[in-house]
Parts: sequence; C-alpha cells; structure tokens
Amino acid sequence: MAADLHLHSHFSDGTYSPEEIVGHARRLGLRAIALTDHDTVEGCARAAAACAREGLEFLSGTELTAELDGHEVHILGFAVDPTHPRLLRELAMFQSVRQDRVREMVERLNALDIPLSADAVFALANCRSPGRPHVARALVQGGFCVSLDQAFDRYLKLHRPAWVPKFKISAHAAIDLIHEAGGLAVMAHPGLNHNDRLIAPIVAAGLDGLECWHTKHSADASGRYLAYARQHGLVVTGGSDCHGLSKGKPLIGTVRLDWDHFEHLKQRLAARRLAPPHPG
Ligand code: AMP
Ligand code: FE
Ligand code: FE
Ligand code: ZN
Repeated sequence: MAADLHLHSHFSDGTYSPEEIVGHARRLGLRAIALTDHDTVEGCARAAAACAREGLEFLSGTELTAELDGHEVHILGFAVDPTHPRLLRELAMFQSVRQDRVREMVERLNALDIPLSADAVFALANCRSPGRPHVARALVQGGFCVSLDQAFDRYLKLHRPAWVPKFKISAHAAIDLIHEAGGLAVMAHPGLNHNDRLIAPIVAAGLDGLECWHTKHSADASGRYLAYARQHGLVVTGGSDCHGLSKGKPLIGTVRLDWDHFEHLKQRLAARRLAPPHPG
C-alpha cells in the first residue's frame, strides 16, 4: 500500500482534473493521495468526493511559495480545512498577485515584440492560480516558441527578459497559516534548494515534516532527509509532483510513500488536533 502526496490539477498548473487524478491513482494501485495545487484548495472537494467513490484515502492540501533568508522554499500544507476562512482569504490574495504577475510577464513579452495578450494566457489557464507554465503554454500555442522548455529558457526563467519575481510569504507565516487551517506543514522537495542549511531554521519555525521522496531527489538525498527527519522527530512524506501531461510523461505513482509513513502522518495530525492550540 502506497501514497502519492504531491499532485497538481488544472486548478493550478497541472493538466488533469481532480477526477482524472483519482482515476489514474486507482489504476496505478495507490491507496491514498493528496492534492497540493499551488496557492489553492479549490480542487480538494472534488478530489475528496472522487476518492470516496473509488475507495482511496484523501488529504486536502496546497503548496505555498515561501521565503527564508532570500531563498525560495515551497511549503506543503496537508489536511488543511479547505473551507477555512482565513486560509481562503490569504489564498485569494496570493492568486491575485499571481494574476498581476502574469500581466507583467506579458507586458515584458510585448516589449520584445511578442504580441501575446494576458487574456489569452488567462483563457488557456482557466484557473485562479496561473503561473509561468501557463505563459509558456500560451507562447507555444501562439507559435512564439516550439516547446515549454524553449519558452522557459528564452523568456521565463531567472535572468531571462520576461522573468518577474514571485511574491513569497515568509516560511514562518506559511507554517502558521497551515497550522491555523488545521494542517501539517511539510517542506516540499528540499533537494531542489541545494542548501540543507535552510532546513534547521524552518524546523525551528514549527515545520512538521520533510518531503523525503520526490521525483527530483536522488537516492542519496532521500536517505539524507529521511535520517534528518528521524533525528528531529519530523513526519516523512513523498510524492511525484505530477503536473499531468504538462511536463511530458505524467509522474503520478512514480514516487510512492510507504504506508507506515502515511499512518504516522495521520497520527501526528490526530495528536495535533487533540493538543491545545499552541501559544503564539
Ligand atoms: P511559477 O510558480 O509561476 O514560478 O512556475 C513554477 C512552475 O514552473 C513549477 O511547476 C515548475 O516546475 C515549472 N517549470 C520551471 N521550469 C520549467 C521548464 N523548463 N519547463 C516546464 N516547466 C517548468
Ligand atoms: Fe507547479
Ligand atoms: Fe514545488
Ligand atoms: Zn509541486
């Protein structure tokens, strides 16, 4: 029995619907999934309903873009209440900043004589939480680039002309928000930061767990994070970070979290809910 706890749907920059994700999860023999769209929990109710029909366990989730000492870190919130008013207010603000960022990227492309419109990107994205992958898809669709990689390499990645910095809340604020919404805060793909010294201060800020297994983690990295998590009493998670068909082959099910880790996560969640609210 295994779980894939890092999945994106078309409510952010994935291409599958929540129901398609659950269908794939069932066919691949997964027993539990979490939906972790960027800055939104909109797909969670539909994913939960589909999981209930298919007999899978489900955790609602989201992936927040946070910042620590100038470094971008991604924080996963697992089992957050998808109706929590303050969570929804904050997510709406992150979404509106994302939409402004798309407009700014489009303006920069226009300045390069690429006649893309923000409306074309929004129509293609068809979600409240658009990002660079949607701009890249619009560039390919409009015939301005031959591939998503080319769109990123030429225009959208750091140091390229249409790159626009992304708004980030502090890692501390992200963790507090997830806790307030009833969830567990887990640092996503720490291996992508290539800077393990970021982990200790995030743990000190109240982090509950580490995503030890991820598509882009080497076996060495996973082992290192697993040892760190054990040493510091952190929950251990893992997921494929599947974005559907947007990055070639769908990744769902290619990273599988063992069931005992999933059970441990649920125990930690139950303990947290029984514990009195922590001060501050
Ligand atoms: P954003 O959150 O708007 O900054 O966009 C980040 C997303 O872009 C993440 O899901 C990345 O995986 C994706 N991304 C980054 N580089 C590339 C690339 N070369 N091709 C496709 N997707 C990419
Ligand atoms: Fe993404
Ligand atoms: Fe991420
Ligand atoms: Zn992700």
